[in-house]
Amino acid sequence: MKNLIYYLDKPGGDFIPTEEAIEQPGPGEILLRTRRTSVCQSDVVIYKHGLPRIKSWPAIILHETSCEVIATGEGVRQFEVGDLVGLGCDIPCGKRGCIYCGDEGTGDWTSCPDTQATGHEFPGFARKYALLPKWFVDLGPIKKFPKGFNADQACQLEPLACCLEGMNRVNNCITDRVVVLIGAGSQSTYALQAAQAMGARKIIVVNRGEQRLNRVIRDFGNDKTIGLRWDEHVVENVFEACKPFNEPHFIMMNVPHQSGYELATKLVGYNTVVDAHAGIKGPDGKPPFMHELDLNNDVHYKLQCYQATHGSSMFGINMAHELISKKQLPLINKMTNDTEKFPHHQIKEAIHRAADSDSLKVIIDWD
Ligand SMILES: [Zn+2]
Ligand SMILES: [Zn+2]
Repeated sequence: MKNLIYYLDKPGGDFIPTEEAIEQPGPGEILLRTRRTSVCQSDVVIYKHGLPRIKSWPAIILHETSCEVIATGEGVRQFEVGDLVGLGCDIPCGKRGCIYCGDEGTGDWTSCPDTQATGHEFPGFARKYALLPKWFVDLGPIKKFPKGFNADQACQLEPLACCLEGMNRVNNCITDRVVVLIGAGSQSTYALQAAQAMGARKIIVVNRGEQRLNRVIRDFGNDKTIGLRWDEHVVENVFEACKPFNEPHFIMMNVPHQSGYELATKLVGYNTVVDAHAGIKGPDGKPPFMHELDLNNDVHYKLQCYQATHGSSMFGINMAHELISKKQLPLINKMTNDTEKFPHHQIKEAIHRAADSDSLKVIIDWD
């Protein structure tokens, strides 16, 4: 048995199929067979421009994955052959004594100075088989799904986890509240479904492009969901749609542009939580955006909260696992239509499809 690895030779380059020997798992390790990988918008950016955290090329990218356990090393008790597992992207630094990532750690590995991620410092899943070291098996992020569970859904554990980190960092702003989602890409579509599952009173999705907004509202909307075009009247239209409330309670900024921050800060009222979820990264790094804030009148007296999340810790992974495995997002399969499914020898085509303005979740099949 040989491994099949698709090395991306350079940003903008090709995925070169390469056969390599497979190591058998040592004590505490497990051997995985990749079943699905889904494409993240960060994969599109990595494919086009690379990433400072990827220090050498060729590289093995793709981080959203579901796999089958096909061999376990001595002493592994959490997993057995045949298990379907989903994995996170942000992973422990590997030091057992780390207060963020280790055995006694908080699981907040995105805060660790030695933070690493699959598809960056750790090889990604553009490969048929992957051997996981003991620290990864013991500490996570790896979650088992029920027998016979859908591998397409298990694969979306990581992107959903990132979304749920943003929605749950602050309590009491989704259930029975008004949620505004800026952008209608995959993170907003997960957030829309999660807000429905969490019992939001109203969910307003704002997007510039009509095509993707229409797809999201048609396939995921219900009587509590409102789609609004992001035009020159968007601020007044959002406030109007919030009625009988005067303002939204939660705003998730899911577009990686300065205009997203500008719109989000215009929509803040009493008791509003803003989640700066997307962030902005350009070829020159991360530009600063300044916003003046009155700590007394706005933050204190209006109870405004500005927060952000990126990536996912064990907190988000556990919540995403719960929602997916208990089938709390019944429409999730609609995020991937027939034009968004690819075999493993078409990774480049899959990434190009994910870059299209109407696309939601592209899935690559490795079976
Ligand atoms: Zn991702
Ligand atoms: Zn650490």
